[in-house]
Amino acid sequence: MAADEHLEGTQAAPTPEEVGASYDEFGLLYELILGDSAIHIGMWTPPDGAATASTMTDLANLAMDRQTDYYIAALGLGPDDHLLDIGCGTGGPAVRLAGATGARVTGITISGSQVPLCEARAREAGLSDRVRFALGDAMALGEEHADESYDAAWAIDSFPHMSDRPAALRNAWRVLRPGGRLLLTEFTRRGNARPEHLAVFRSVWTSPAPESPTTVLGLTAEAGFDLVRMENHTHSLGVTGELMDFLYRDHHDTIRKHYGPETTAGMDAAMPVLREFVRDHLGYHVYLLRKPH
Ligand code: SAH
Repeated sequence: MAADEHLEGTQAAPTPEEVGASYDEFGLLYELILGDSAIHIGMWTPPDGAATASTMTDLANLAMDRQTDYYIAALGLGPDDHLLDIGCGTGGPAVRLAGATGARVTGITISGSQVPLCEARAREAGLSDRVRFALGDAMALGEEHADESYDAAWAIDSFPHMSDRPAALRNAWRVLRPGGRLLLTEFTRRGNARPEHLAVFRSVWTSPAPESPTTVLGLTAEAGFDLVRMENHTHSLGVTGELMDFLYRDHHDTIRKHYGPETTAGMDAAMPVLREFVRDHLGYHVYLLRKPH
């Protein structure tokens, strides 16, 4: 415990502005090492066998779509429902949910460059009337998001960036109607990471030290949520960590051309440490929560 406290003290949590700037700068990198259907870890099992892929990027996009579909099914929304997408990335999951269910979606992101990308994606899908996006901070959700105005919310791979998770949970709780569900994913702590692991997670992934799955559950309970279901998807995170490493190498020339030799040298040094951290010390948990009636 004392060691953990020491490690956490070594790095201040990133500000929301820093997180936004990082997505503004590294959007292309994520596309190259992860694909463009979403920016989340994907789901590698169970394989549904319904689609094929001929490149690693296709495979990652399929895994990410499969994960989005799994979360869509978990929430079970219909055309009368309105979902808040907390940390909507480039809009892939929001547009996919609106297309599959007919539900309305409002997405917020802390990255200014992501908003037009989200809007373009919704336009291309012919869903601009169902899906809206805005720049916003989930830890300080504005009054344009009225109390009890959403039927459900999801936060896919956005909470790991949050410096104040209790505030983000309080905001989600406020805007959900009683009985409304929140689907939350978290990169969770496994074992004792080394300071250099956490430093790389902080600088490359713009994330504070991860919390244990138990701590996360405690925070959701403190915010007033009931737990419907909790799942461990750490296996998928392991596969994605490996895949990002492959794709980083495959696209190294493009990455170097775009980001320049200095930034690329920094990433070259960070990638193996990140890879080790993800493999040995990072978990991935999914929480399906409900605001009680
Ligand atoms: N949920 C999306 C994107 C995940 S990437 C997907 O599954 O594809 C993480 C996202 O969280 C980014 O869009 C980032 O801008 C957003 N984010 C991080 N911190 C945030 C905050 N404080 N408020 C709003 N969005 C935030």
